[in-house]
Amino acid sequence: MFNVANVKSTLIDFDLVSGLSKGKEPIRRNLSKMKGIFYDRDAFDAEVRKDDRLVYEFFDMGVPETSGDVAYGTSITYPGKIGDEFHMTKGHFHTVLDTAEVYYCLRGHGLMMMENPEGEVEVQELVAGKAVYVPGRYAHRSINVSANEPLITFFAFPGHAGHDYGTIETKGFRKLVVERDGKPTLIDNPRWQS
Ligand code: ZN
Repeated sequence: MFNVANVKSTLIDFDLVSGLSKGKEPIRRNLSKMKGIFYDRDAFDAEVRKDDRLVYEFFDMGVPETSGDVAYGTSITYPGKIGDEFHMTKGHFHTVLDTAEVYYCLRGHGLMMMENPEGEVEVQELVAGKAVYVPGRYAHRSINVSANEPLITFFAFPGHAGHDYGTIETKGFRKLVVERDGKPTLIDNPRWQS
């Protein structure tokens, strides 16, 4: 819109309905890339054979990995369940543990699952127009509890934070969200490993 020389800003679109961008390719996580993440392993195997569907996708804008930069993008988790467990992201700690993140919900209905190494658990609801502050030291995962709508969030975190997926892949989260009597319900993870 304005022609200003030497300003290293960028401008990109994120669609409010799809969460996707015309200017950038997302990173995609199909079901087959989530082995060991859902607690019902039999249901997982059956679903992968039937339909290796896209569970979620998100953007890595490739900003410099410095503490002065801000990494950002959208995350889109599609509706569905594996057994009675809702579709969700793998979840991660930040490599620099004490770095926070903000998620602003643009569309859908979900939960942000958070857990620190001491075992304190926090869960916040994500609905359009609400923002969740994930404090430093908390692993975090988005869970879509809607039956038919994608959960779309915009996230931002310090550029140097890094991602530690391995701890969650190995241990899991202490709590899971499953559907019981038609409602999202928090349960202890039967597969959690201390
Ligand atoms: Zn994060």
